[in-house]
Amino acid sequence: MSTDPDCIFCKIIAGEIPCFRIYEDSETFAFMDINPANEGHALVIPREHARDVYSVSDTAIAATVKTAKRIAAAVDKTLNPEGLNLLQCNGPAAAQSVMHFHMHVLPRRDGDDLKLNWGLEAGDMDAIDRLAERLRNNL
Ligand code: 5GP
Ligand code: ZN
Repeated sequence: MSTDPDCIFCKIIAGEIPCFRIYEDSETFAFMDINPANEGHALVIPREHARDVYSVSDTAIAATVKTAKRIAAAVDKTLNPEGLNLLQCNGPAAAQSVMHFHMHVLPRRDGDDLKLNWGLEAGDMDAIDRLAERLRNNL
């Protein structure tokens, strides 16, 4: 399986950078976004390093979508949002900032007026930690 030693998400999978882990299996890894656009914002990534939708393997993207479905269900059960986006960004105009294919699991609230390129703002790490535990308990 290909990995990139300079990739921040490959480092998270390898345990070299800490994260608030929600779930992992042989092909995928799910964790909280530390700059959440909304409470409960999570990321799902394939273990295999690929930059974007153009280079990710069929196997890796299928496994990632399957895990994203599972995480979305846990987010819905835990937070009961009015909506939820599964989102995946490629290239600068789409505001891709980490060059390891990933899917956002993004709960939505009525009237949150979230834009596609929402900008990054650090969340409350203690709150994110507590939320990760609640999501793990609802998998
Ligand atoms: P993109 O903009 O590439 O679609 O999304 C990348 C996401 O990764 C952003 O939402 C950003 O907050 C998140 N991110 C960047 N660095 C880290 C990190 O070190 N840990 C975690 N948990 N999320 C990160
Ligand atoms: Zn990577």
